[in-house]
Amino acid sequence: MEEWQRFEVPEVLQEKTEEDRIYALREELKKMEREIERLKHDSLTGLARRPDAEDAKEIKERRKRSNKPWTTLMLDIDRFKTINDRYGHPIGDDVIAATADALRHFSRANDVVMRWGGEEFVVLFNNATPQDIIDKFYNKNDKKAEISFELTIDDQKIPVTLSGGVASFEKEDGLEEAVGRADAALLWAKTHGRNQIANYDVLPPKEEKS
Ligand code: GH3
Ligand code: MG
Ligand code: MG
Repeated sequence: MEEWQRFEVPEVLQEKTEEDRIYALREELKKMEREIERLKHDSLTGLARRPDAEDAKEIKERRKRSNKPWTTLMLDIDRFKTINDRYGHPIGDDVIAATADALRHFSRANDVVMRWGGEEFVVLFNNATPQDIIDKFYNKNDKKAEISFELTIDDQKIPVTLSGGVASFEKEDGLEEAVGRADAALLWAKTHGRNQIANYDVLPPKEEKS
């Protein structure tokens, strides 16, 4: 059955009174809203998917009302193609799910954690600056901010590292602008050795716009 066929309104129109029809339509609407909520979440990780225009607008409004600094973190699993090739696609899926669990663990209830697509994630931290996020993930031994872990699946030890970029939201920024800057910092991290989180605010000027 096609997804849209689940919502059939005609029965509602056979209700006797207008009150009955309103009641029945409201019930249908509730079902549809629940279905929208379900579809907004990715089934592999349970995380929110990349927001549509309407949700992006809502996030922007929420951010503007909050009076606190917001920071965007964009992450991409390093050499994920190699993980898929070496261990197989289902284990690749497990790695994506485990990364999502780790990000849920690192974030607070009011933060927004999203699977942006494939093996890319975006976290919106509220009441945090980019430097706070760098500090949060700073590894003293490696002298850089990083997210890495080792997964054991079927007795195989799978090392996972991520590259990331953080950027602040400027006053009128929507999600697109903030994610764009985080992505530029992510690109810097990828081209400078991976397994690190770069801060857009302190990227070397020459490479900032490349
Ligand atoms: P880099 O360090 O530069 O990010 O290298 P990479 O290999 O991670 O680069 P790339 O972004 O090109 O590869 C991402 C791969 O992720 C390609 C795609 O086949 C795989 N992929 C995307 N979505 C899924 C998924 O849901 N499950 C699995 N197992 N693989 C996925
Ligand atoms: Mg990628
Ligand atoms: Mg990748």
